[in-house]
Amino acid sequence: MSSIQTVSPGVAQSGVADQYADGTAAKVWHLYIGEHMARTTNYKNFLVKLLKEKKAYTILDAACGTGVDSVMLLNEMGNIPAFSLTSSDYSDKMLKEAYKVRWDRRREQAFFNWEIEEGNWMTLTKDVRTPGSGYDAIICMGNSFPHLIDDHGDLRNQKLCIQNFYDMLKPGGTLIIDHRNYDYILKHGRAPKKNIYYNSQHIQKITTQIIYENNEPRQIVLNYKMDVEGDGDFTLSYQPYTLNVFTNLLKGIFGDNTSYQRYADFKPLSEEPDPAFYVHVIEKPARK
Ligand code: SAH
Repeated sequence: MSSIQTVSPGVAQSGVADQYADGTAAKVWHLYIGEHMARTTNYKNFLVKLLKEKKAYTILDAACGTGVDSVMLLNEMGNIPAFSLTSSDYSDKMLKEAYKVRWDRRREQAFFNWEIEEGNWMTLTKDVRTPGSGYDAIICMGNSFPHLIDDHGDLRNQKLCIQNFYDMLKPGGTLIIDHRNYDYILKHGRAPKKNIYYNSQHIQKITTQIIYENNEPRQIVLNYKMDVEGDGDFTLSYQPYTLNVFTNLLKGIFGDNTSYQRYADFKPLSEEPDPAFYVHVIEKPARK
């Protein structure tokens, strides 16, 4: 047997595991989220209103997964002439579902024009094309960003990814990014029951594990038990960002003197003390 190896290693970039590579979550995702159309109206109204207010029409969905948020935007904003959507994700198993939707609805102009690319946040500026002066908005929703685990303990990869988002935004462009309420999970040992994004009837239960290292919470593991035929259960691991740590991560790249809002389940922070999710909306400063 030859001992010569291929020069191309044929493996994904080290340090970033595709947690969806076995395809199980991709297959049941539409059940988890309760079909593409059933994304809660609260979420839809929040996001679409925000984007329209900011006149954000050139949009990158940087964690499109099976295309849930993207399809929602295509349905709601696809008729706006300036609208143009690019969707990317690291997992080809998840993207495959998005490609299917685009194919099925290719006769609608907005879907015909929809760009879908494989893209890892770590290398996003190379993986995905940046239009002219940059995107009006980049969205990274559905607790996606915490999938990237902080292996080094100093958030260096996370900073790199946020920097890539920043570089792909036009001056004055907006990043909209969310995460689960890990402060709550760390305090109570489990995720809040409500889920503002998904109203699936198929989740039987979600169990929470917290992995500590030297008294520091390093990983949250959520096990999703589905009531579907066959084995649809899946497990995902997340970086447990407290609200403050995430805020500092964003401000470290975007700076302190910029428009920045935080929302708790789409409401002002003060109105919702125990939200399931936090959403951060931060602007790249306009050029002087
Ligand atoms: N926004 C969608 C998908 C959420 S699932 C929804 O709400 O339904 C989270 C997605 O983040 C997965 O599809 C996963 O492949 C993607 N992801 C995780 N790490 C990534 C990375 N480093 N680069 C790009 N995408 C990544």
